[in-house]
Amino acid sequence: MTRLIIPRVLALSVLALMAGAASAQPLPAYDLLLTGGHVMDPANHVDGVMDVAIKDGRIARVAKGLKPADAIKTIDARGLYVTPGLIDLHVHVYTGTGERNSYAGDNSVPPDGFTFRSGVTTVVDAGCAGWRNFQDFKDRIIDRSKTRVLAMLNIVGHGMRGGKFEQDQSDMDGEATAKMAARYPGVIVGIKTAHYGGPEWTPVEQAVIAGTRARLPVMVDFGTDRPTRPLYDLLTQKLRPGDIYTHMYSGLRQEQDPVTLGPSRALVEGRKRGIYFDTGTGGGSFKFSLAVPMIAAGFKPDSLSTDLHVGSMNSATKDILNVASKMMAIGLTLPEAVAGMTAAPARQIRRGDLGNLSPGAVADIAVLSLQKGRFSFTDMMMGKVSGDRRLVAELTIKDGKVVYDLNGLSALAWATPPGDTARDSRWTAFARPAAH
Ligand SMILES: [Zn+2]
Repeated sequence: MTRLIIPRVLALSVLALMAGAASAQPLPAYDLLLTGGHVMDPANHVDGVMDVAIKDGRIARVAKGLKPADAIKTIDARGLYVTPGLIDLHVHVYTGTGERNSYAGDNSVPPDGFTFRSGVTTVVDAGCAGWRNFQDFKDRIIDRSKTRVLAMLNIVGHGMRGGKFEQDQSDMDGEATAKMAARYPGVIVGIKTAHYGGPEWTPVEQAVIAGTRARLPVMVDFGTDRPTRPLYDLLTQKLRPGDIYTHMYSGLRQEQDPVTLGPSRALVEGRKRGIYFDTGTGGGSFKFSLAVPMIAAGFKPDSLSTDLHVGSMNSATKDILNVASKMMAIGLTLPEAVAGMTAAPARQIRRGDLGNLSPGAVADIAVLSLQKGRFSFTDMMMGKVSGDRRLVAELTIKDGKVVYDLNGLSALAWATPPGDTARDSRWTAFARPAAH
């Protein structure tokens, strides 16, 4: 038997040629296909079993009967829910500055460690940075994260750096804030006021000036409850339709009617005017003693958000799917919960391009399982409610690529030879290296 000896350099070039020939074949119509999942896309009123096809990082088609032969990769999503990538409207992710006791520092968390594993593809940082330090936040976190990080600018120029900054009325400049917002349209998606303890309306008024100039919504954490600035006036006079009231079930600022235990008149009138209400459950902003009777009275949240930070990441809030499962245990339907994490927050931040599975939309997708069993959910008072359903993120896709895969839905048995790395890189962030 003659042994054919091919010099190593030649062998490598033959391999390279073969690889070149393989990738020169015409690509299938789709990069990735999810088949048989229950698609829940509230923005498009889709709620049923469908296939979802992705090409070039965008949604190509949502229909029944799409063919695996037309895709580089097909993932079987039967028995799972397929939703737009989740949007967490209220998080704190300006970490890494080294500043202690500061949301522009140690109180924040790195987004990628918390997002994809919960089906989240977009977060909105709720005011960690103001106009003075936004550029640093952008350089440090927004531009370097795989998660899509958007931001609401704090009306305080220095942002959420703690009391001596956040109580300083002289650093609340609506004009300067609007000017910075105008530099990054679509990234700066709102104005935030938070944590104010004084009796004045200054932070709210300056935030509304900024929001009006920049054509952006204002999100309010109403700080300390003060008789000089009642919640009723905030929601019926100071804020504009389209502005957002977060921490809606905190009970810290007259959200609840003391007699009926349903929503206060302020909340009811605010909703009539078009104010949005957000959970922002956080570390100390969610009580069942409010949420249960208010939801029973029909006052459900517009959006579900975590208020994720070091004080909420391991306590009652945990992550957005825990918040959603909790809200389902006390009266929200699954479609309402999904809408509250997709279409609703997208509408609130005026990013209608996100939070839906329309053809042409960016292919951000969460594949969720709805687990049945005995679960409990807690609040800031260490109270709990029981539930029989829990949402779990199985697979997360960002810009058309798998970025998280809990149970290896997209993986092959380990002994399977590697596929074509270049092709696989079209649908996954985890393509196996080529054979050597
Ligand atoms: Zn917050």
